[in-house]
Amino acid sequence: MVSLKVEVLYEELSGKRVRCIACARRCVIEEGRRGFCGVRENKEGSLHSLVYGKPAAVNADPILKKPLDFFNPGSTVLSIGTVGCNFRCQYCCNWSLSQETEIIGADIPPKKMVEFAERYRCQGISYTYNEPTVFIEYTHDIGVLAKQKGLFNTYVTNGYLTPEAVEYVSEFLDAATVDFKASGNPEFYKRFAAVPDVEPIYECVLELKKRDVHIEITNLVVPKYGDSLEDVRALAEWIRDKLGRDTPFHLLRFHPNYRMVDLPSTPVSTLEKACEVAMEVGLRYVLIGNVPGHRYENTYCPGCGKLIIGRYGFAISKWELNEQNRCNFCGYSIPVRGKYFRGGMGLPLPIL
Ligand code: SF4
Ligand code: SF4
Repeated sequence: MVSLKVEVLYEELSGKRVRCIACARRCVIEEGRRGFCGVRENKEGSLHSLVYGKPAAVNADPILKKPLDFFNPGSTVLSIGTVGCNFRCQYCCNWSLSQETEIIGADIPPKKMVEFAERYRCQGISYTYNEPTVFIEYTHDIGVLAKQKGLFNTYVTNGYLTPEAVEYVSEFLDAATVDFKASGNPEFYKRFAAVPDVEPIYECVLELKKRDVHIEITNLVVPKYGDSLEDVRALAEWIRDKLGRDTPFHLLRFHPNYRMVDLPSTPVSTLEKACEVAMEVGLRYVLIGNVPGHRYENTYCPGCGKLIIGRYGFAISKWELNEQNRCNFCGYSIPVRGKYFRGGMGLPLPIL
């Protein structure tokens, strides 16, 4: 049994209350109670993680599944999630983990997790499935050990980390997929994710950028409630102006799940229009996700227009970059960070 970890990211308040500062909710928690995410508990005036060393899902995944398309392409990442989340997305495809209130999972201390990564020949570790902020101390202790072994670390996050939390993870974090929903529309967040204020997400992304973490932005396009092209344009412009035109921007297809099973999947034509808007704005690497075989899964060289990275689902089918990550046809420099791992796996391998 892995012992409970006393949280790093909290402040003590009067009357044995504590304030968690891991995510922008900054929950004030009475003695004996848990925060909004359900996995951080005030025990006698100090905050404890109930999911430290308690993963509920572990898989070896292709990095394209995160998605991270421009970071160590072709690599395999040991993917770890626990129960709990600081959002309540009504369509969450991992709802059985994220919305679980019972603390379930195996007992795996950080050192053992890094050994798993090596045994399954992973080049990195990804904290994913539920929101890694809610098990941030566990990610930290795994991440620091992983780095010592030459492995990289990535987050798949809703971007609700506080600046203090970003500073804490910057010791080991190399890359982050930041998941926007409905192009950041505040009303959508309130209604379908129980998130009162979206501003912290933008602040978090800027903090990550400041610390040179590789960032890819995803945007879930939800039919009827979150498919406004004006909102797509506004988010794309923000990315262009604050993060740069080379930032990968993934437009993800919604599929019905959890409490939103009555909605259809996003029409592919809607995603195509959203892609065109983002390209018009000037983003150079706009991709469609969750539509295997679509031409916008691929990357075309901004210099010569040729297809240089072919993808199908989670696999790379064509690679036309040289060792310096320049286009083989015209020499244009492509913002791939890290190196290409040829022959990487195209399907997830369940471990736990
Ligand atoms: S991580 Fe959990 S306890 Fe901490 S502020 Fe966020 S929701 Fe509250
Ligand atoms: S933030 Fe992610 S993991 Fe959490 S409920 Fe929303 S979709 Fe699920």
